[in-house]
Amino acid sequence: MKTIGLIGGMSWESSAEYYRLINQQMKQRLGGHHNARSVMVTVSFDEIKALQHAQRWEELGERMKQAALQVQAAGADFVLLCTNTMHRVAPALESTLDVPFLHIVDPTAEALRGAHVGRVGLLGTAFTMEQDFYRGRMQDRHGIEVVVPEAAERALVHEIIYEELCHGIVRDASRVAYQRIIDGLQARGVGGVILGCTEIALLIGQDDVTLPVFDTTALHAQAAVSWALA
Ligand code: GLU
Repeated sequence: MKTIGLIGGMSWESSAEYYRLINQQMKQRLGGHHNARSVMVTVSFDEIKALQHAQRWEELGERMKQAALQVQAAGADFVLLCTNTMHRVAPALESTLDVPFLHIVDPTAEALRGAHVGRVGLLGTAFTMEQDFYRGRMQDRHGIEVVVPEAAERALVHEIIYEELCHGIVRDASRVAYQRIIDGLQARGVGGVILGCTEIALLIGQDDVTLPVFDTTALHAQAAVSWALA
């Protein structure tokens, strides 16, 4: 079994989900007392959040590179970044690491293709929904068209992520807001919705909406287990 390397803390609420899902799935696949071999480096999210909102992506790239090299030095055979947003600096990691980097878009796209979804809605932080790094990879590498909510809805989705979910706060009113936004995407003809922020599954899941849901945390964790066993 390979050792999974995780860059966590963005936020720790979702890193805890990665840890739980990876170990749960490894036990499901191998039985007994099996768990995953893993190492995690946790960064300070307060600092990362401030740099994100100041759009200081170069500095964020340096921070992520340092964390990735720590994970590699700790013995990881491959590396995951446990946040969609910070994939904004994924190219810096890919060019720095000697071990492979498991990009969160790729297992998500694979699941979409498997479900024959060629046009999909995306919920995530404003950075993920509005910049090109995520939608671009979905479109250019995987041929999947990405649709995002309208501006006021994007602002609400973003605020709920940072002010509630990243603090572990889960509110019924926010679930209803997300349901309404997902219904709006469905009306625009998408075949599914990507939960493109690693905390969103804490709030909403397949039981809450009719549109097929693609949870990036679960898909990324599942791919990590497959890589570890390959
Ligand atoms: N975990 C979130 C994501 O998947 C947001 C926190 C962050 O900015 O990294 O995008």
